[in-house]
Amino acid sequence: MSATRRPYWLPGNCPPWCLLVTEHRDDDHPEDRSHAGRDASVTLTAADPLDLDGEPEEMRLYLLQHYRECEPRIWLGRNDTDRGGHLTLDEAEALAAELRRLVKVGRGEDAGE
Ligand SMILES: [Zn+2]
Repeated sequence: MSATRRPYWLPGNCPPWCLLVTEHRDDDHPEDRSHAGRDASVTLTAADPLDLDGEPEEMRLYLLQHYRECEPRIWLGRNDTDRGGHLTLDEAEALAAELRRLVKVGRGEDAGE
């Protein structure tokens, strides 16, 4: 497949955040026919390790959208494991707002409730 040809199962272009534009293939398994964005990670210094391998614990997150889904989800999980979950964009926005609120309360910048 050339870099400019979409696989037969993909009806339109990749969303602008997809890093797999040249990676999607005609023979991708149906479960693997997803767009994926750049991943980010945050080192978790206060988390108990999942493994005692000396590697830092991380929270990893990235955009993911199966080609038949109407909007992307955000994966939020520990290290490279399946421990975590998907958030809708609205859920992620609500979670971010709660995290910002808790940070302000924790730093004494807001009294909380
Ligand atoms: Zn894509």
